[in-house]
Amino acid sequence: MIDVKTVLCRPGRMDNYSYLITDKETGQSAVLDPSETEPLITACKKYNISPKYIFNTHHHFDHTDGNLELKKLFNAQVVACSSDASRIPGFDIGVSENNNFMLGQSRAEIIRVDGHTIGHILWYFPEDKILFTGDMLFNLCIGGLFEGTPEQMWHSLQKIKKLPDDVKFYPGHEYTLHGASDALFFSSNSPAANAYIKNAQTKLQNGLPVAPTELKVEKECNPYLKAGNFDEFFNLLIR
Ligand code: FE
Ligand code: ZN
Repeated sequence: MIDVKTVLCRPGRMDNYSYLITDKETGQSAVLDPSETEPLITACKKYNISPKYIFNTHHHFDHTDGNLELKKLFNAQVVACSSDASRIPGFDIGVSENNNFMLGQSRAEIIRVDGHTIGHILWYFPEDKILFTGDMLFNLCIGGLFEGTPEQMWHSLQKIKKLPDDVKFYPGHEYTLHGASDALFFSSNSPAANAYIKNAQTKLQNGLPVAPTELKVEKECNPYLKAGNFDEFFNLLIR
C-alpha cells in the first residue's frame, strides 16, 4: 500500500502538483512529476523521504524540470514512457502500456494515454485504487491536445472510464476552477456538478488541494468523461 504526499509547485503561476509516493511496507519512495526542485527537497526533508525513483507522466518541462537535480541528489532513477527516452531529462528506465512497475511491494500499472502528448502515461496503483493522471485528466476538464489527435484523446478517455468508480485520481495541476466553468457551461443545472464545485471552492479557500477525487463523481461531472460518443466529445473540443 502507498502513502501519497501532495506538493504544490509554481503556486499562482502554473499550480503544478508533484507527488511523493511511499510504499508503506518497505519505505521505498518515488517523486512523481518533479515540477521544480526547491519545494520537493523541502518536502523530502520534512517527511524524511529519500526517493529511489522519479516517475514522469510526460515530457513537458513543468513536470520534469526537477528530474536532473533530484536524480543527482538522491541517486534516483528516472522512469518514463519508453517512447519518450530522448526527451525526458535523465531518462533511465522505460515503461509501456500494461507494464507493472514495483515500488517496494506496491504495484503500479502503466496506462498509455496519447493526446496531451504522445507518450503520456498514467501511473495506476490498482490495489490502492489510486491513479496519477498528469496532464491528461484534471478536475472537471482535460489537458489540451499538444501532440495527439482528438481520436487519440477520445480513446485515452475510454481507458479512464473503464477504471473502477472507487479509484481516486491525483492530477498534474490545480485547474478545478478552470474546469468548473466548463462543467457549468455544459450542465449549469446539474446538482452533482454544483456540489462538486462548492466542495472544491471550500477546499481551495482552506489552502487544500481539491484532489484526490473519486472517479465516480468525476465520471458524473466532467463533461469530457460524460460525452457518450466521439462526436459529442469533438463538439466539446471545438466549441
Ligand atoms: Fe503538460
Ligand atoms: Zn503540465
